[in-house]
Amino acid sequence: MRERKRDDAATVGDWIPADTGEGPSITGMAVTSSSTDPIVGIDLGTTNSLVAYCDDAGPRILMDEAGRALLPSVVRFVAGAAPVIGHDARAHAVEYPVDTVYSAKRFMGRGFAEQGASVGELPYSVVAGPHGLAAFAVAGDVITPQQVAAHVLRALKEIAERQLGVPVQRAVVTVPAYFDDAQRQATRDAARLAGLEAIRIVNEPTAAALAYGIGASERRRTSSETIVVYDFGGGTCDVSVLQLVPGGPDEGEFFQVLSTAGDTRLGGDDIDDAIIALVTREIRDEFGTALEFPPAARQALRNFAESAKITLSSADSATLEVSFGVDRTYRRVLGRAEFETMIAPLVARTIDACRRAMRDAGAPEIDRVVLVGGSTRIPAVRDAVRAFFGREPYAALDPDQVVALGAAVQASVLSGTRRDLLLVDVVPLSLGIETVGGAVAKLVMRNSSIPTRATEMFSTSVDGQINVGIHVLQGERELVADCRSIARFDLRGIPPMPAGIPQIEVEFLVDANGILAVTAAERRSGRRAAVQVIPTYGLTAADVDRMEAESFTHAREDMQRHRVVDLVATSRLDLKWICDALARVRDELEPAYLETLESAIMSLKGHISAAEYDPRSVDANAFYQAKEALDRASVRMHEVAITRSLRGGTD
Ligand code: ADP
Ligand code: MG
Repeated sequence: MRERKRDDAATVGDWIPADTGEGPSITGMAVTSSSTDPIVGIDLGTTNSLVAYCDDAGPRILMDEAGRALLPSVVRFVAGAAPVIGHDARAHAVEYPVDTVYSAKRFMGRGFAEQGASVGELPYSVVAGPHGLAAFAVAGDVITPQQVAAHVLRALKEIAERQLGVPVQRAVVTVPAYFDDAQRQATRDAARLAGLEAIRIVNEPTAAALAYGIGASERRRTSSETIVVYDFGGGTCDVSVLQLVPGGPDEGEFFQVLSTAGDTRLGGDDIDDAIIALVTREIRDEFGTALEFPPAARQALRNFAESAKITLSSADSATLEVSFGVDRTYRRVLGRAEFETMIAPLVARTIDACRRAMRDAGAPEIDRVVLVGGSTRIPAVRDAVRAFFGREPYAALDPDQVVALGAAVQASVLSGTRRDLLLVDVVPLSLGIETVGGAVAKLVMRNSSIPTRATEMFSTSVDGQINVGIHVLQGERELVADCRSIARFDLRGIPPMPAGIPQIEVEFLVDANGILAVTAAERRSGRRAAVQVIPTYGLTAADVDRMEAESFTHAREDMQRHRVVDLVATSRLDLKWICDALARVRDELEPAYLETLESAIMSLKGHISAAEYDPRSVDANAFYQAKEALDRASVRMHEVAITRSLRGGTD
């Protein structure tokens, strides 16, 4: 591990480890773990904060006791008692408006005098604190932004300690790329107050790139790469253009921030506000009164506006319903299209930020676009970013976790332990999809070098099937149950057709960073669906070895089972066609032939039910012969059926 830069506050570049690429392309270095004194990665967000840890299985979010990844960056101060932090504070923010501090990050290391008139709109009061810095007058006290952040950091530290089972004293903490020295220092101070040493302050966009393995690769990079990080969170929108500058064999690489642009007053909260405004306006129009909602009702309205928004990220509509007074209920359905029109001006402002960032960076050629922040889950936001940059943005990782995951990657590098992370030049385990009967069709074979692309045609197994579930798997074994499930998605809205007729093209594309994009498209209707994943996440070199070894041990047995599963699927289709035709021409077949044919049908049906009962007990060869026998026996019947349809039969 070589590091070039120590004083990160001095410049905006973030160094990452040197390329030590030697030997095989899958690195399987042993971990001399420092899990007794772990370094965690922390995303101290404006709206939500997270803590993550990276070990040999890669980075993962450390969840709280209730299994939640996000901790709201909200603290309610209570005179003479301990403050309330996180979910509880956020859930009741509107009921305790003057004592609940949210978005404190906006004030970190900033002077009171530089705060504009907008502080007057906040429910809590912002005052001049020590050294003229912005502070909050809450619960009869003056609290600095660092103290607020320290409460959040302490809660994260406790989550990490509970999860890791050891004391946690060191962290890599992320900050926006535009934070100046004073703001970075304030962040360090907050960590210190929480009993954490911020051993490195890393830019949020850099962390996001690291989480995607950009720049962390063992591959020797010869040309520089330009990455846009589009971060649309709860309260802010930040667009950064980063350049990954290649180093020599001994020098490492580093990220340089070419430009940042954004809007520190534009986030998901504004989208919630737009929904709240719509509802209050319509209630006024419908019920003719300017309603004064009590705080608890306003809180409920806020919570439900947010959940309607979140629903609309995956559903086509959301129902808005508010009951008030004795028996008055406002109710209406908000459709995706109307919602998109409503938020279009907000989305357009984020695209303006993209335009400014690109201009300030000198309009470089962009190699990748990375999505960060909970609000990028909104399909219209993704569409706008895709359209502006003309490429599919990276979205394989949870957009609100990616910064914390990247901070953990950086932490593992700084902890001096070589990560046993899979940094790949090849696909370490085969990739495929589930087919009928629980078999796996492999599209990308193990050890294919990346980037790589593969496509294959599939069809439906049931008549009139309009939705197809695509289950993406990884592993060398033949059956789904023995492989690792890495993603599922649905291709919906296929026009009803008989089984076997739809043409579904499945494409696997693994790019140079090992990110897999799977697309399924039905040719006749043009319906498409896609998913992105990072197949190596959570996978260690040891796992890969084990999965490979198992595939050898079970090779013969697996092949037999796969063959049986395939035979069941194809025999079912054959039987269906044959029985359909037989029903039409039965009366034209001579009894002796009919008997032969029916006994062939019975025999094949017997093999199918035996296989479904226990695939291991079935003799695949005998099964295959029964299928072939029926195939031969049915020739005559098909001839009759065809002659009849040429004559213009009755069906
Ligand atoms: P920050 O970086 O500002 O702390 P986050 O990245 O956690 O914020 O983003 C929080 C915002 O993302 C909130 O406004 C939340 O409502 C929004 N959000 C989270 N999930 C979704 C979703 N599925 N659809 C739309 N917005 C979402
Ligand atoms: Mg964020």
